[in-house]
Amino acid sequence: MGSYTRKRCDPIMRQSIRLGSIAGIPVGLNWGLLLIAAFYIFNLAAGILPAAVPGASTSSYWIAASIGIFLFFGSILAHELGHALVAQRNGIKVNAITLWFLGGVALLDKEADNPGAEFRIAIAGPAVSVALGALFGGLWLVASPMVGGTLFTFILGYLSIVNIGLAIFNMLPAAPLDGGRVLAAALWWRSGNKNTARANAAKAGEVVGTGFMGLGLLLFFIGGNGFITIFLGWFIRNGARHERQRAERQERVTTADLRASMQPLVAPINRGITVSGLEALSGAYDKPVAFPIAGPNGPSGIVSSISVHTTRPEERPHVFIAELIVPWDQFTSARVGEQMETILERARNSGKDHVLVYDEIGQQVGYVALNGFLSAAH
Ligand SMILES: [Zn+2]
Repeated sequence: MGSYTRKRCDPIMRQSIRLGSIAGIPVGLNWGLLLIAAFYIFNLAAGILPAAVPGASTSSYWIAASIGIFLFFGSILAHELGHALVAQRNGIKVNAITLWFLGGVALLDKEADNPGAEFRIAIAGPAVSVALGALFGGLWLVASPMVGGTLFTFILGYLSIVNIGLAIFNMLPAAPLDGGRVLAAALWWRSGNKNTARANAAKAGEVVGTGFMGLGLLLFFIGGNGFITIFLGWFIRNGARHERQRAERQERVTTADLRASMQPLVAPINRGITVSGLEALSGAYDKPVAFPIAGPNGPSGIVSSISVHTTRPEERPHVFIAELIVPWDQFTSARVGEQMETILERARNSGKDHVLVYDEIGQQVGYVALNGFLSAAH
């Protein structure tokens, strides 16, 4: 498979060997790939090639198999470069391309911010695979009448078929496969809701992943080797589940109601009181509240009743609230009724993750700590 993702690489996809870099993107491979490549070469050289093109020397089978598998992984690298270069052109940094035993993965720094970019990045990989399939197929068509059925033409035909196969497999409409991302882009474009689109494409991925796992078990049952199919199914299902959960979490966060999430501002208090004092004052309210801190020139910050819990009960009588206060310079402001998504965007840009909420007539009415939202939305 040839996928791309935004999450950090799993250990099975980590770069063990750095091959170099292309267009500023570090390209590497995982040890697991060498094992699977050796297995594929053996399969070709000792099984498929002697049966398909009998009469050649043993060493020529091994050389042809090695070249074929080398070009096969080269094709996967080209597929990943398709994703990566289009991502770069759409303003998304690509942190790495890694070849591993199930194929390749391009690690993108962030997600596409519009359905058009999502579509272009997703389709670029399979488009490269189709082009390579056509190229090898064309060479096979030209070479076959001239040299007949040789190892050379067999490898050309083989590369044509695996590239087309790679494109077809990756175009299954099931995220995290490319086809799933194309589906998500289409749903997003139609509905305007990125998170729901991604969650639905990921649901399809969970179904398809489970299907592959079942297929692998069936292969075992009828005497074949279903290991890779089961693992592939598990990998897709697992990736899809994470993507769905993430999309659902993002949807909850970005649609959260500001008024329901905020702690109302109550009467100002003095910074000289202890945490126990703050706890006693908070006891008068049946929900979390935020106290402005009285200063010589108006409030100098805010302390939340929730922050009491950061101090151990036995220490509360002796510790002053000074260290619990969030100073004004860590605040961004928001209006009641403003979309949480907009506020989070502003918080990210300014690096200020506390919000002072103003009502319609410009009065300070509430406080929201965004760190929980920001980590959940990321
Ligand atoms: Zn791909």
